[in-house]
Amino acid sequence: MSTQTLTESQVEQAITSLADRLAIVDIEPSVGTFSRRVLAQEIVADRDSPAADVSAMDGFAIRLSNLQTNEPVPFSLESVPGSPPPIMPQGEAVCIFTGAVVPAGADAVVRREDTEELVDSIRFRQPAMSTRAGDNIRRAGENAKAGSTILVPGTRLTAAHRAAIANFGYIAVDVYAPVRVSIITTGDEIGLFAAKSPKPWQLRDSNRVVLTSLLDTRPWINVEHVDHNDDERISLAELVADRLAQSDAVLITGGVSMGDYDFVPDVVREVDAETVFHGLPIRPGKPILGAATADGKLILGLPGNPVSATVCCRRFAIPLLAKMSGQSDWNMRVPSVTVTSFGDTTLPLHWLRLVRWVDNGVVEIVDSQGSGDLVSLAHSDGFIECPPNASGNGPWPFHDWK
Ligand code: AMP
Ligand code: MG
Repeated sequence: MSTQTLTESQVEQAITSLADRLAIVDIEPSVGTFSRRVLAQEIVADRDSPAADVSAMDGFAIRLSNLQTNEPVPFSLESVPGSPPPIMPQGEAVCIFTGAVVPAGADAVVRREDTEELVDSIRFRQPAMSTRAGDNIRRAGENAKAGSTILVPGTRLTAAHRAAIANFGYIAVDVYAPVRVSIITTGDEIGLFAAKSPKPWQLRDSNRVVLTSLLDTRPWINVEHVDHNDDERISLAELVADRLAQSDAVLITGGVSMGDYDFVPDVVREVDAETVFHGLPIRPGKPILGAATADGKLILGLPGNPVSATVCCRRFAIPLLAKMSGQSDWNMRVPSVTVTSFGDTTLPLHWLRLVRWVDNGVVEIVDSQGSGDLVSLAHSDGFIECPPNASGNGPWPFHDWK
């Protein structure tokens, strides 16, 4: 794919053509919590929801034939949540509470506030007189019938899904195994410098931290190895081959451009991976490289500049790893936001611009000195994605750092 021929949708095209070559991880039984893991089985209703006709209100279960205003209607029994309903005596109403089972023979529930309570009878107030069959009754199975499918494999589980899973009696579920990721940073100038200050020609390794942080917030990813390699082709090839053998995906930062010390493109060839794209019309991140092995593992070469590495990890690595994790909705929808002021500059590239929130649905551009400016990165909440030659305040798709 040459940079020149790429058009507006080619960020998406690059992602999907690489995603097509990636394998999906194995399935395993969940152990302990499975919050935000990816469901690998169907969740089926084990019984009707609700399991019986239940009252939606506190009030009185009645027969419509008893609905009249001249005489009080007696009641002697009640239906409470957690107990079977009483048998409804002929000519009587039954006092009932929200969630309690409606007794057989009752046609409707009248709200308590639409009645006047006497010692052991009720009078209907005027609003009750318009009661119709079924009013204030939630019917058995109206949410779901026993045997119906509630959730499908490929769902990334949220708190909302968990409620349904618990309600239908599942203790443990099958989930996809987390995607095993190795991170490799490159560059002779890069180090940890824990005990001493770096020289002016040296740099602290911020990419290892930012990538690990972006991935660690997602429980369907396991970062298993984080390594650094100098700009040395043979040892880098050995390390990538070794990490590929132990992981589903290898993310490399730095060394991906055309410089004399940029060995990632060669190394990708040496480990027999297919380069699907190398160079995309994006800023930042133009040199990005995406590759897949014959058995569906991912190699992503991210440019070393901290803003490029972070933006490209969010825009490319996260959806590609989501695909591998079994998520059917892997190419996740993102919200759109407007910017307070887009400015006059346009670019013939997909422009991934750092922004921060100023209001609901509204962001402002964070001024940045360029893809090395990790101070501007630290002042941003994410980035907007604008197609080539875009102008105006949007709305533009927004990708966050969460
Ligand atoms: P490269 O893509 O290797 O040409 O690197 C581009 C720029 O990013 C250089 O200024 C590097 O020093 C910087 N860089 C590369 N790797 C890292 C890293 N792990 N942490 C911080 N900066 C980096
Ligand atoms: Mg480098």
